Amino acid sequence: MRAMVLDKPRQPLQLRDIEKPRPAKSQLLVRIATCAVCRTDLHVVDGELPDPKLPLIPGHQIVGYVEEIGPDIPSSFAIGDRVGIPWLAWTDGECVYCRSNRENLCDRARFTGYTIDGGYAEFGVADARFCFHLPDRYDDVEVAPLLCAGLIGYRSYRKTGDARRLGLYGFGNAAHLIAQIALYEGRDLFVFTRPGDMETQQSVKTLGARWAGGSDEMPPEKLDAAIIFASVGPLVPAALRALAKGGIVVCGGIHMSDIPSFPYADLWEERTITSVANLTRRDGEEFFAIAPRVPIKTKTETFPLEQANTALDRFRAGKLSGTAVLITGRKDNHGLRG
Ligand SMILES: [Zn+2]
Ligand SMILES: [Zn+2]
Repeated sequence: MRAMVLDKPRQPLQLRDIEKPRPAKSQLLVRIATCAVCRTDLHVVDGELPDPKLPLIPGHQIVGYVEEIGPDIPSSFAIGDRVGIPWLAWTDGECVYCRSNRENLCDRARFTGYTIDGGYAEFGVADARFCFHLPDRYDDVEVAPLLCAGLIGYRSYRKTGDARRLGLYGFGNAAHLIAQIALYEGRDLFVFTRPGDMETQQSVKTLGARWAGGSDEMPPEKLDAAIIFASVGPLVPAALRALAKGGIVVCGGIHMSDIPSFPYADLWEERTITSVANLTRRDGEEFFAIAPRVPIKTKTETFPLEQANTALDRFRAGKLSGTAVLITGRKDNHGLRG
C-alpha cells in the first residue's frame, strides 16, 4: 500500500510502498478514505513532541471503511461500515486514571499517528473500542476535521462549564468548530486573533461573535472563561487578565511555548488555569451527537495523499484556507478519486 512515512523529524515525509497491516484480535483493518491534518502532526513532524515511533505514518483524524474485523470484536462494527479513528488509540483500562473515567490520562496510552502508525496511508489498523461511528450528514472530507480539532476542542469547551462570556484565543480549526457550538448554546463569544488580522475578525463577527479583536487587546467585558487554541505561552497571562473572578483559562493544545511569569494578583480570586490532554471515548460520543444538531460546518482544503508535504508546508506557513484533508481512497457517494 502507499503511505507517507516520517523517517526522522524535521525531514519531509517519504512516499513508500509498504506492506498492508494485518489486524490483531481486537483491531479493525480500515481502508482509509481521508485523513485531516492536525497541528499536532506538524509538532510531530517538526520534532517538537518527544519519542515518536519511527519510522512513522502520521495522521490521527482518519475516516475509512472497515475491510476486515479481528475475531475478538463485538458486533458493533460490520464490514463496509464507515469509522472514524481519533488520536486516542489504546489505553490499558487498568491504571488509576482509566479506573476513574480519565482514560485520556492513561499511563500507557497509545496515540494514533504518534506512538503508533496513523492515517497518511491507504490502510490502517485500529483498536475497535476506540473507533467511532460517524454522523451520516457529513461526507468523508467534511467529517475528518471533527475527529481532532472537533473532539479535543469540545473537551476544552466542556472544561469552561456554563461560562456565559467565552473568549477564544486563536481562530484556527478547533476554534472555528467550537465557536459554532458556543453560539448554538447561546454563549456570548469574544474572539482574539493575531493583532491586525482584520479579515478573521470580520469573519467571526459575521459568524455571530459579540466582539473580535487582537490578542493584545482587552475585551469590552470581563470573561467567565477563555480557551487558548494558539500554541503561544504569553497568551496565558493575557487571557488571565481578561477573566472575571472565578474564571478559567483552558489551554487546548498539546504543545505550547513557555508561559512568562505574572503577578499572583492575576490568579487571585479563584481564577484557574488548566490544560486539556487528549480525549476520552465519552467526549467523542457526546461530540458526534451534538455536531449534526448544530450543525457544525467544517472548512476544508483537499490534497491527494502524495501531497502531504505540501499540506504540512502550507499549514506551517499559515497559508491554508481551511483544514487540510488528505484524500487517499474513493470518497463516499461523490466518486472522487485522490
Ligand atoms: Zn490506563
Ligand atoms: Zn490533533
